[in-house]
Amino acid sequence: MTSLPLVFDAPKRGLPPRHLADLSTAQRRDAVAELGEKPFRAAQLSTHYFGRLTADPAAMTDIPAAARDRLASALLPPLLSPVRHVTCDDGDTRKTLWRAHDGTLLESVLMRYHDRTTLCVSSQAGCGMACPFCATGQGGLQRNLSTAEIVDQVRAAAAAMRDGELGEPGRLSNIVFMGMGEPLANYRRVIDAVHRICDPAPDGLGISQRSVTVSTVGLVPAIRKLAEEGLSVRLAVSLHTPDDELRDTLVPVNTRWKVAEVLDAARLYADRTGRRVSIEYALIRDINDHPWRADLLGKLLRRHLGQLAHVNVIPLNPTPGSKWDASPKPVEREFVRRVNAAGVSCTVRDTRGQEIAAACGQLAAEG
Ligand code: SAH
Repeated sequence: MTSLPLVFDAPKRGLPPRHLADLSTAQRRDAVAELGEKPFRAAQLSTHYFGRLTADPAAMTDIPAAARDRLASALLPPLLSPVRHVTCDDGDTRKTLWRAHDGTLLESVLMRYHDRTTLCVSSQAGCGMACPFCATGQGGLQRNLSTAEIVDQVRAAAAAMRDGELGEPGRLSNIVFMGMGEPLANYRRVIDAVHRICDPAPDGLGISQRSVTVSTVGLVPAIRKLAEEGLSVRLAVSLHTPDDELRDTLVPVNTRWKVAEVLDAARLYADRTGRRVSIEYALIRDINDHPWRADLLGKLLRRHLGQLAHVNVIPLNPTPGSKWDASPKPVEREFVRRVNAAGVSCTVRDTRGQEIAAACGQLAAEG
């Protein structure tokens, strides 16, 4: 495997101190041994954090106080503190604004549906991809999140569901990397986070890989690398238009990797994993909602992916000050009809969190 270009390797600036959730099971054992503690303390810590979903050393009373202090200061530094929670959709959607150790702000959104509960997680604070319709893209990248900062968003949400903070107690079942940031631009940490999220408890949080979605603007070398990781997570590609001319402006990284290359990489991913790829399409009035674009999208996807694509149309969620708006419903319906007519499955994504700026692309740091 060739090494990835620098864009995937942003500096460690601002990352928090090492945390239990940064480490694999073997690394946790080593770390505990280096502290002069008994190796089984690693399993105890993991059972508390991943199994009982607690990050608070004071609750880990089966570990003697002196050992607990040593272990906690080396492996459980405080990572994220909630600044506030905001709820909407009759209590079924909750956005949390978090403050990291260095004051960086980030957000995650918990969405309860009748058959599942999904957490939308951030992989970076801000985003460097500069898509003009996305609020996060306007502020630029502040920094990558550490593996543990990603995992801790999930741990906290799983605990909130268990404890009935979003209605009846329930189980967090699905994770989408569709919060702030470009997950494949923070590649290693995101992959490690997927392992921590999906490994069975007490090694990890025990969420099925098939219920995790990694969404990308289309960083082709990283998609190709992801295809070889042996994971079965779903890949979502934010396409937003089938033609390079418009995509160069809507998803600026398209000037580097063109639509056809992105779809070929998506095909490789589908072939390696046997999983259908989601194609994300934010429908923007008079910008990318034309019948000919629907036809071209259908044709391209049939050619590159056949039955291995599913298009999610997302009604544009206008960001403050933007001149763009969602397409009228009849235009949206016609768009979906044409993609389906080309033999490609296509549905409209349910939008959540509109009133609390928790909808797609609105996870900007002002919260
Ligand atoms: N960087 C990744 C993941 C974050 S965004 C990516 O781009 O895929 C998750 C999805 O929300 C992406 O498809 C993104 O294009 C879309 N999105 C961003 N802003 C939006 C907006 N204002 N309205 C609708 N969808 C938006």
